[in-house]
Amino acid sequence: MIPKVRVRFAPSPTGGLHLGGVRTVLYNYLFARKYGGEFVLRIEDTDQSRFVEGAEDYIFNCLEWCGLVPDESPRHGGNYGPYRQSERKPQYREYAEKLVEKGYAYYAFDTPEDLEKMRNEFKTPENPSPQYDSKIRGKMRNSVTLGAEETAKLLEEGTRHVVRIKMPQEETVSFIDMIRGEVTFDTSLVDDKVLLKADGMPTYHLAVVVDDYLMKITHAFRGEEWLPSAPVHVLLWKYLFGLEAMPQWAHLPLILGPNGKLSKRDGAKYGFPVFAMNWTDPKTNELTEGFKEKGFLPEAFINLLALLGWNDGSEKELFTIEELIENFSMERVHSGGAKFDYEKAKWFNHEWIKKSDAAVLAPQVKQLLAENNISATDEMLLAVIDKVKDRCNLLPDFVQQAGFFFSNPTTWDTASVSPKWNEDKKNFFLTYINQLQSATDWSPVALETSFKEVATTAGIKPGELQLPFRVMLVGGKFGPPVFEIASILGKENTIQRIQKALEVF
Ligand code: GLU
Repeated sequence: MIPKVRVRFAPSPTGGLHLGGVRTVLYNYLFARKYGGEFVLRIEDTDQSRFVEGAEDYIFNCLEWCGLVPDESPRHGGNYGPYRQSERKPQYREYAEKLVEKGYAYYAFDTPEDLEKMRNEFKTPENPSPQYDSKIRGKMRNSVTLGAEETAKLLEEGTRHVVRIKMPQEETVSFIDMIRGEVTFDTSLVDDKVLLKADGMPTYHLAVVVDDYLMKITHAFRGEEWLPSAPVHVLLWKYLFGLEAMPQWAHLPLILGPNGKLSKRDGAKYGFPVFAMNWTDPKTNELTEGFKEKGFLPEAFINLLALLGWNDGSEKELFTIEELIENFSMERVHSGGAKFDYEKAKWFNHEWIKKSDAAVLAPQVKQLLAENNISATDEMLLAVIDKVKDRCNLLPDFVQQAGFFFSNPTTWDTASVSPKWNEDKKNFFLTYINQLQSATDWSPVALETSFKEVATTAGIKPGELQLPFRVMLVGGKFGPPVFEIASILGKENTIQRIQKALEVF
């Protein structure tokens, strides 16, 4: 029987959730949904020196905003809990000891001074920072060099120690990556990683293998930065549970910024968000901007992330989450780095704003307008959104594009009107006001027709009058077609705006 697909996202709660992190969540989620599997969120908090207040809440908030809600997690429960590694502490020692018993790991009693001494002693120009590995192991204070009796004595006395994996000297370790195919490592290049720390907490390496096993994970997708750790994990799987039980792995390509791996600093430097949502580092109070607050729709964010490293083989770029679930396949993820292009990201958002129903956008637009002291009336809001959404890349663009509908201009771009302004034009607008006052058809077409009629009678080209008309209604040279604006504004307000502007021009 093929086991049920179970995937996991396993973040360490150490700060903001980077684009790459959300893409990892997304690919896990799509895969789980596609195969009717389960998506687990496990909090990897074994490194307590890196604990950051609020980071776990933040991760959940981001996933909720993106609509990528896990089936099992510390918040959602499940049959394989606890889902925080710090709450699973007692179980890891047992596995570490099993490895020692079988001769695959050993106790190491070296003090920080011993390690420092080792680094100084074995440092060479070719190898400036020597590792604790199979060549050096024999020269250190550990159960390999001390022997059983001395080791037992030290343990009994409660001597501080760690457990390290005993990396084989010249072995080749390989596994099949779903994206990269066969990946092979030479074990002599890998150090004897610590598995269990002096405080009894496991390191990531031991914890990830034990938990993926106990949580029956079938597929593990993670960032490319974890590829160098894979040989350690393959060996731990082999030693503890057998390679047949090992999940299938895929190491997702890096996300590249303007110069190399995309970093938080790139965001600040180039003015684009790199986190899903705003994150304030509680230690430094430094704020890193999020896609949400920048004015991205979650659907657009998900869509653009899906395409950062994957496509369905066609030119298609716009996908709903349902279409992504249907079409996603790990084999179509590229192994090379995926370049993040902010202009393209905004294009995705633009397309999604266009696609979205005015009613869906309305609450957010209303809120943004309110933040700018513009109170939007509900009767007009939907029509306005429909009219201007094609002109918005980011949600805050609605403030400029829609705000003037709800608040009369207080400044006018007179510089673009004055040079060609004259008495004849003023008289035209006075006549047009009269015409409007008695108008019964307030559709854009009717408004335009009467505008042209009055212009022709006055002997002025209608084209020369449209810009002043726009500036009267809007304040500036932007916005949708001017007769559509007047039609939405209604009779009273349109006339008011013309009159007010005539005083100023
Ligand atoms: N805790 C690791 C991280 O923060 C998880 C890596 C993995 O998925 O194996 O990225």
